[in-house]
Amino acid sequence: IKLKIVDIPVPITVGPAFEGETIRKKEAWVEFGGGRSPGFELVQMGDADQVEDGKIEVVGPEIDEMPEGSVFPLGIIVRIFGRKMQEDFESVLERRIHYFINYGEGLWHVAQRDLCWLRISKGAKEAGFKIRHFGDLLIAKFKSDYPAIVDRVEVTLLTDLPAVEAKIKIAREKYQARDARLKGLTDETVDTFYSCTLCQSFAPNHVCIVSPERVGLCGAVSWLDAKASNEITPTGPNQPIAKGECLDEEKGMWHNLNDFLHTASNRTLEEVNLYTLMDKPMTSCGCFEAIMAILPLTNGVMITTREHAGDTPCGMTFSTLAGTCGGGVQTPGFMGIGRRYIVSAKFIPADGGLGRIVWMPKELKEYLKDELTERAVALGLGADFIDKIADETVGTTEEEIMPFLEERKHPALTMPPLM
Ligand code: SF4
Ligand code: ZN
Repeated sequence: IKLKIVDIPVPITVGPAFEGETIRKKEAWVEFGGGRSPGFELVQMGDADQVEDGKIEVVGPEIDEMPEGSVFPLGIIVRIFGRKMQEDFESVLERRIHYFINYGEGLWHVAQRDLCWLRISKGAKEAGFKIRHFGDLLIAKFKSDYPAIVDRVEVTLLTDLPAVEAKIKIAREKYQARDARLKGLTDETVDTFYSCTLCQSFAPNHVCIVSPERVGLCGAVSWLDAKASNEITPTGPNQPIAKGECLDEEKGMWHNLNDFLHTASNRTLEEVNLYTLMDKPMTSCGCFEAIMAILPLTNGVMITTREHAGDTPCGMTFSTLAGTCGGGVQTPGFMGIGRRYIVSAKFIPADGGLGRIVWMPKELKEYLKDELTERAVALGLGADFIDKIADETVGTTEEEIMPFLEERKHPALTMPPLM
């Protein structure tokens, strides 16, 4: 094996050893995003004359102007020129920002897109780490890891609120355009799904299976992304799996997927169902955007998100749930998911689908509103289904939300028993 030694001009150590490092709030000098302030990250390709290799621009305050323990907005824009670069590769490279930043000692990064959440530790600040060093780190890693498609990289870092608010709109348009390309692709119309094992660095036996109608649980790897990633790195973390023989159409089990899972999970798992959370569900690593859990009393399921810090009717907060169900094991009744999976036609069909949802944070309802309504109408649940779903303003225990569900005649109450 040829080890690539890259000299990265930053005052902290950079390497995979720091990937699993957590930085708690009290250890952070400054934090960005994560629902506390607006934040986003975006990779865009540009023409040769638009991208100045090595250029780093900071728009807004540098770290020296950020008081200890403060929260700032952050926008990370990476522009890439490469003769072999394609638009389809943008989101694949964008996901790498998460890994590259976590390689830095004293740097912490979770989630992606306009949900990203970052911290810089007091130690890193003391060592001389500046906002502009995010740029040095990303430029060095993109160029060393993707020499075949990346020729020039420039990075703009926004820490100024109006600048972030202006550019986040452009980023959101990009995210929407990417999601729209998936429309029309269904699990039935393709004969190949993709694996993602990127998170095995955190959760060694975890395997995501990415299908057109089920985004990876981090929300950042769609079927098209996995396909593009495989084109960039054929031996990389996204492998095509020909579906082959279907063993259970309702629960979504395929012979070849099981075989792949067995090997890729280091022989810890033998079977996986794509369309249920009750029986051999997909494993959860730790970076899921949302997590679902059954609520036995209501005969339904609840969903909470990384952004929602409060209590939930299953008795656990997001972080407790993440600690209980993460790590790459199958936990029937609990499952990490990407936000967009909720509005997919393949949302737990074997368990009764969308009509099972009895609780979710208000913010998630708002986030998915239009599509959730569209899906509810398509499923015959009615345009007012969203108003039958309880949230934190209704209650945070099963007992508290039960009268609400009864009054609104929530469909889960009359569905076949979940357990
Ligand atoms: Fe890949 Fe899944 Fe990790 Fe996302 S959560 S990066 S899809 S392994
Ligand atoms: Zn993960």
